[in-house]
Amino acid sequence: MSKFWSPFVKDLVPYVPGEQPKLAKLVKLNTNENPYGPSPKALAAMQAELNDNLRLYPDPNSDRLKQAVADYYGVQTAQVFVGNGSDEVLAHAFHGLFQHGQPLLFPDVTYSFYPVYCGLYGIPFEAIELDQQFQIRVEDYARPNGGIIFPNPNAPTGCALGLAAIERLLTANPDTVVLVDEAYIDFGGETAISLVDKYPNLLVTQTLSKSRSLAGLRVGIAVGHPDLIEALERIKNSFNSYPLDRMAIAGAAAAFEDKAYFEQTCQRVIDSREAVVAGLETLGFAVLPSAANFVFARHPGKDAATLAAGLREQGVIVRHFKQQRIAQFLRITIGTPEQNQVLLDALQSL
Ligand SMILES: *Cc1c(COP(=O)(O)O)cnc(C)c1O
Repeated sequence: MSKFWSPFVKDLVPYVPGEQPKLAKLVKLNTNENPYGPSPKALAAMQAELNDNLRLYPDPNSDRLKQAVADYYGVQTAQVFVGNGSDEVLAHAFHGLFQHGQPLLFPDVTYSFYPVYCGLYGIPFEAIELDQQFQIRVEDYARPNGGIIFPNPNAPTGCALGLAAIERLLTANPDTVVLVDEAYIDFGGETAISLVDKYPNLLVTQTLSKSRSLAGLRVGIAVGHPDLIEALERIKNSFNSYPLDRMAIAGAAAAFEDKAYFEQTCQRVIDSREAVVAGLETLGFAVLPSAANFVFARHPGKDAATLAAGLREQGVIVRHFKQQRIAQFLRITIGTPEQNQVLLDALQSL
């Protein structure tokens, strides 16, 4: 605390990201990064940007990237927003679309950045309980709200919601924005971008950090009605005109254009996920059905925090949340087949 702070700073409760250890050699399965590298075409596109032009500002509108996203999803560029990681895109959505006085609704077990943004922007919220199977029940969201947000698949559970349920939510809430955070959609869910022409209250966000293996580049997108996109543009242009640098625009556009590499690496992660689930179940774990690049698992006879600490001693890091309802679960990112085997062997020894 310091007298120099603006008064609201002392009440902020910042998000705590998963650890990014400086040690090499760890089997790092704690922050849902992709075990396979970015598209070679994306890397080449970024290398081509490393030249004298870096003295010039980038395109403030990132038109090249918006066009690549629009082409990929068959939407108009006016329906696309891009930002410095989807966390930034989400922040602008909270700021520009969720400040209506009524509480924002999201699941009780979900991405822990949502309550942090509510704190930052002074938005009241209600956490709606997942059902006994840790699934979102859309009927529970039938109450006054200033907006609804959830990840699909949900994090950290990995459980996906179908488009029919999402449509029920959109139809029941025509006067508020429903934001579907599709950080993990490419690992088995069905994107709601196909619904944006039908529902002016739908905003879909995605990230290039997971399925496109560019967490270090910091690029996220939103797709929705042009009126929703314009709100995000107004916030962005009142905050930072150039959130994406030259390399990010070139690399992200090339990543969207390299569909073959993207599909192949996603499929490898999905195949590995099925193997990890089978291995965990053999060891006695209960694993929630996952459509993501991670699994959420609990062992009936072993304390999760103890397991996480034991894994760490063996050089494997996974994520454990000290949160009441999920304190006995581990969230484990899917790695390469070799990394997954190291994980399963370490768990076996524990
Ligand atoms: C990883 C993640 C994000 C953030 O992605 P960035 O683009 O890296 O900021 C957003 N939402 C959820 C649910 C995530 O898991």
